[in-house]
Formats: sequence, structure tokens, C-alpha cells
Amino acid sequence: MNVGFIGLGIMGQPMSRHLLQAGFSLTVYNRTASKAQALIEMGAKLANSPAAVAAASKIIITMLPDTPEVEAVLFGENGVYEGLSAGKIVVDMSTISPEATAQFAARLREKQCELLDAPVSGGENGAMAGTLTIMVGGDEQAFQKCLPLFQAMGRNIVHLGANGNGQRTKLVNQVICALNILAMSEGLHLAERIGLDAEKVLQVVSSGAAGSWMLSNLAPRILQNDFQPGFMIKLQQKDLRLAMELIKTLGEDFPGTALTYSLFTKAVEAGLGEQGTQGLINIFKRA
Ligand code: NAD
Repeated sequence: MNVGFIGLGIMGQPMSRHLLQAGFSLTVYNRTASKAQALIEMGAKLANSPAAVAAASKIIITMLPDTPEVEAVLFGENGVYEGLSAGKIVVDMSTISPEATAQFAARLREKQCELLDAPVSGGENGAMAGTLTIMVGGDEQAFQKCLPLFQAMGRNIVHLGANGNGQRTKLVNQVICALNILAMSEGLHLAERIGLDAEKVLQVVSSGAAGSWMLSNLAPRILQNDFQPGFMIKLQQKDLRLAMELIKTLGEDFPGTALTYSLFTKAVEAGLGEQGTQGLINIFKRA
């Protein structure tokens, strides 16, 4: 089957590699064309616009930073919309606004095309290992058609109902992640400030009730002063902004989300946006 992939960043590159390895015929596009080089060497074709990707593909995947980029790639000049014909499916695996997702899906239906929102969790490592968690919203039949693609990239794949519900579930995921990042950072900072051996602390608390994915995967990187991004602070801040927008409609306080949103915003304002989320610890004055 001909599949298109747009957005070859930290996540998009390894995800598209898994599609090639599973035998799908792949056409790719990225704003920075050099990011496609390794995939071309593996057999992917390079298109010169999102419209050309859509014309060449039955299913078109996008993996872009935020809502404005997805809107531009779908509906801008030479966008995916221009290359669509009836029966094609667009799968947006970026994390973007649930409301905008539903609007994009309605616009695609004007061309008898379906949109699935299919954001992921599992980070760069999950993308490289092909073990992503995938949260899908949209038409059930379209979901079934795309399942073999999801299975090439992920392991835990769940259909959650109508368009937008994949994104809403991902925002729940991100609220939990952000609070875990804060817990991990603050605990590690406390250990350092009171003069404990942080490596030994990590060794012992990781396997107890304080253990978490963040503690196992990100804390060791902090101890090595490695702030390279698997997932950038500016993208986590974007996800918390989307969660805050969702929460605003409820007229209720979610104090943890509000706190992490303000701390991640502070990190972005301090120039840490391109660090990995483990860089949140750098908002503390570290000895
Ligand atoms: P990234 O910045 O590394 O990749 C985004 C890619 O999109 C870049 O290659 C960029 O050149 C390309 N791009 C941007 N605007 C474009 C445009 N108009 N046309 C074509 N290409 C364009 O980001 P990422 O970490 O790969 O994240 C992508 C999405 O996945 C985000 O929504 C993020 O929140 C989500 N996500 C990331 C992770 C992670 O651990 N990195 C995990 C889960 C979900």
C-alpha cells in the first residue's frame, strides 16, 4: 500500500523507518529536505510538497509540532487537501487541539476523505523501538484500515471514539507526564541540595513506590548532564497549554496542571525550550 509521511523530526523519522521495514511503499515530505536522506537511502520517495504526497498515497500521516503547522500542511498552498481524492485517509499523529482536529475532519469529509487523530506516547525511544502507544479518534472503518500501519509503529493501540478523543486522551496523558516530570525533578533537586549521593538515591528510590517512567528514563540523563531532547520542553509546554484550554471549558481548578504549565512556561522563557523535558530541573538553581 502507498503511504505518505509528512514531518520527519525526532518522532517522524523512526516512525517512517518502521513503515518502510514493514513493507509499505513510502512517499515523504519535510520542510527541511535533508532530514529525508536516510529514508530515501532505505527506499522512500521524496515529494516536493504535501499535495504531491497526498496524490501519491492512499493513507497520509502527519507528525508536526502543533495545530498551525498541521493546518498549513493540510489546507495551505500545495497542501494535502489539494492532492486528495475520495476514499483517502489522513492520519494526524501530532499532538494538537482536539477542537481543531474535529474541524479538520469535517473539511476533509467534503472530499469524501476521513481524518484520524492518532497521537502517540512513548517518546523517541518508543518510536525507535516501534513500541509506541497510539490513541485514536475517528471513524471505526478508517481505524481498521490504518491498523496495520499503527501495528508497524506501536504496540498498545486503542480506538477511543469520535474525532478529537485521541487528542483529548493524549492531553490526559500529558498532564500525568508533566506532573511526573515535576516530581522527578523536584525530588532529585532536593537530594542534591541536602548533599546526598544522587546516583545512590536514584538507585534505591526507582524500584520503590516512587518509581516512574520519568525516574527510570530521564533522571539518569540529568545525572549525566545530558539535556538533549527526546521530547522538547517547548512541546510539553504546548501540550499543557492545550490541556489548560480544555480545562477552561469545565469551570473547575486543576491545580497541578496549572502549576506545571506555569513552570514549563518559565522554562521556555528562560531559553530552555529546545532542551529535553528533563531540563525542567534547570529552573531550580542547581549547585
Ligand atoms: P520535531 O520538532 O522534532 O519534528 C517536527 C518536524 O516537523 C520537523 O522535522 C519540522 O521540520 C517539520 N515541520 C514543521 N513544520 C512543517 C511544515 N509546515 N511542513 C513540513 N514539515 C514541517 O518534533 P517531534 O518531537 O518529532 O514531535 C512531533 C509531534 O509529536 C509533536 O506534536 C509532539 O508534541 C508529538 N510527540 C512527540 C514526542 C517526543 O518524545 N518527541 C512524543 C509524543 C508525541
